[in-house]
Amino acid sequence: MANIIHYDVAASIIFIVMIINIHKERHKESRSSSILLLLLYVGLFSSLSDMTAAIYTNGVEATYRNLMLAYFSNYVYFTMHNLLLPIYVLFIMVSLDIWHIFKDRFMNIILWAFFVLLDFFLLITNVFTHKVFYIDNKMHYQRGSYIVVFYIVAALYIINGTIIIIKYRSLINKAKMGVLFVLFPLIIASLIVQWRIGTALVENFAVAIGLMFYVIVIQRNENPVDPDTGALKYYRALERAYAAAKTKKPFSVVFVKIINSSSIQVYLGRERFYQYLKIQSRQFESIAGTIGYKVDVYYLENGLYALFIDDTNRDRSIAYANFISRYFEDTLSMDHLEINSEAILCVAKCPEDIDEYSTMVTLATTFYKTIGSSRKVINYADYRENKDFRIRNELDNIIRNALTNNKFEMYYQPIYSIEEKRYISAEALIRLKDDKYGYIPPDLFIPVAEESGAIHEIGDFVLRDVCRFISDNNLEALGLKYIELNLSASQCIEINLIDKVTSLLKEYNLSADKLRMELTETAADINPAVVGNNVKKLSELGIQFALDDYGTGYSNIRRVTSLPFVQVKLDKSFVEEIDNPVMWTVIKDTISMFKEMGKEVLVEGIENETVARKFSELKTDLLQGCELMQGFYFCRPMPGDKFVMYMHECVEKGINN
Ligand code: C2E
Ligand code: MG
Ligand code: MG
Repeated sequence: MANIIHYDVAASIIFIVMIINIHKERHKESRSSSILLLLLYVGLFSSLSDMTAAIYTNGVEATYRNLMLAYFSNYVYFTMHNLLLPIYVLFIMVSLDIWHIFKDRFMNIILWAFFVLLDFFLLITNVFTHKVFYIDNKMHYQRGSYIVVFYIVAALYIINGTIIIIKYRSLINKAKMGVLFVLFPLIIASLIVQWRIGTALVENFAVAIGLMFYVIVIQRNENPVDPDTGALKYYRALERAYAAAKTKKPFSVVFVKIINSSSIQVYLGRERFYQYLKIQSRQFESIAGTIGYKVDVYYLENGLYALFIDDTNRDRSIAYANFISRYFEDTLSMDHLEINSEAILCVAKCPEDIDEYSTMVTLATTFYKTIGSSRKVINYADYRENKDFRIRNELDNIIRNALTNNKFEMYYQPIYSIEEKRYISAEALIRLKDDKYGYIPPDLFIPVAEESGAIHEIGDFVLRDVCRFISDNNLEALGLKYIELNLSASQCIEINLIDKVTSLLKEYNLSADKLRMELTETAADINPAVVGNNVKKLSELGIQFALDDYGTGYSNIRRVTSLPFVQVKLDKSFVEEIDNPVMWTVIKDTISMFKEMGKEVLVEGIENETVARKFSELKTDLLQGCELMQGFYFCRPMPGDKFVMYMHECVEKGINN
């Protein structure tokens, strides 16, 4: 009976289509796509040679030429066929990014290679033994007894691949696991069919279908290259970092942070900014090329790139980073626009330097914040000794620990009234005292707590502790009208904020006017509807609001007017430049603008007498000057008990009556 070659024809077409596709959309993270391509070529040649073999072993004329062609196509077929599963096992390892585990283990390589070599040994000796297959006088293909070895070897590779997929399943998602695995049952089924119906050549077809699953489900949907930035996507970097940390994969990473990227974006506009990012992505690759590096470039947002290199030579990675740093020293011209990029780079060697996923993420997002800008290329091995970084790295745990062991404490800093020439209120400021690192400033831990969600518990602590403080101390006797506390952005959008505050006021028997709340512009930005509602309801309760840190955000006047703030606090960075006549005019105009709106104005960060005097004198300069000042010049923040003592002293000395 004639062999049915339609399946091979179909398989060849599928292989060709997939090969063209992958060539066209060749992904840059290319090791796995190179092996996939190799697999597809092997599959294609396997199908083509299977077809040819089928044609020449189908009772054609028994000439020497036909016999040679029949043998040749069968040998090609067996070669390709025997290569397919071992390469597929390699492909699985590379897809899971665990090749390094096997690469380093000599025995694994030997074992992996031994069985393919055994296949090839049998195939070569078949020339003399004819124990694998032979072509009989009638030009028919006949199986020999050794062919069973091929099946056993195939079974071993299938078992090997299955074990690997199961063992490392946590590194990939279920869809990927499914499509990597599906080839095996398909091959087994096709072998059974082919065994039972010798003329149905379905095996290559099964392989083509199996790989097609992978290409359709993973390769196509998972195009890891972002067309906007020309770099690999963020989530792929996270997946790779996660897998690398789990499997202790040796590699180097260079983080590149373009610190002025947001102003470049504003300057260039969105379209050109993407073009700019693409230029940088290509540049990192081509610089790598000049020193013989193959690099995977990931864009992690906000001007931050991660460059992954399969090389662990620290000096070479640092040299690479230096080349990039030098490249950034030049001005880039785009469409007649000149762009100066400022970049800081950090080089880390894994797993020696970093063997935890979370450390990698912390490093990527913080290294450029904690280091002085004098150095452009940082070696992580030196950097990890940096105290700020160590704290940041452990901050989640430090905060958890502080919450369970009551390591948070409220400090109070008095607020001075120019008009009344005395303190009239105080701001409550949180402090975290860690056993290992001592005092950790709120600017460091509040953002981390906001990210982890711990801010809600911290906020609850602040609310309760400040209420308790007001209830324990007679504010009037201290000459104070109210205490201000800072609300974080996450607190502002708490749905039950009003209930919490109401029940605390009740529990401590406080009138709402003893409490004032500060919120920043950015807090008001997150969810204006919810924040607006919360602020409105709390104002109805009698709590007054101050806008904190005016001059650091967008300083959006509409927002100031849309929420019922009674006070605006000018940030210290805003008032820092009072010696600059232009800035002084801006400050004065800002103050009088707010005064005309009927707001109280407080100036933060008063550090010396000259500045204090300058603002005090405004009163005579302008129709309406600012009325409140706060800063180290008057008093530094102090623990509650010390603050109470200090205020008593002021009252006794007649300063605060
Ligand atoms: P803020 O609300 O603007 O607080 C004023 C900050 O300026 C405080 O820093 C204070 O110690 C500091 N400061 C006061 N006078 C001077 C001065 O003359 N010179 C200088 N250089 N600084 C001065 P602190 O306590 O480190 O707090 C930093 C920020 O952390 C606060 O800025 C606030 O945004 C946040 N924060 C503090 N406590 C809390 C809190 O209980 N809850 C929330 N959500 N955030 C808080
Ligand atoms: Mg404040
Ligand atoms: Mg402030």
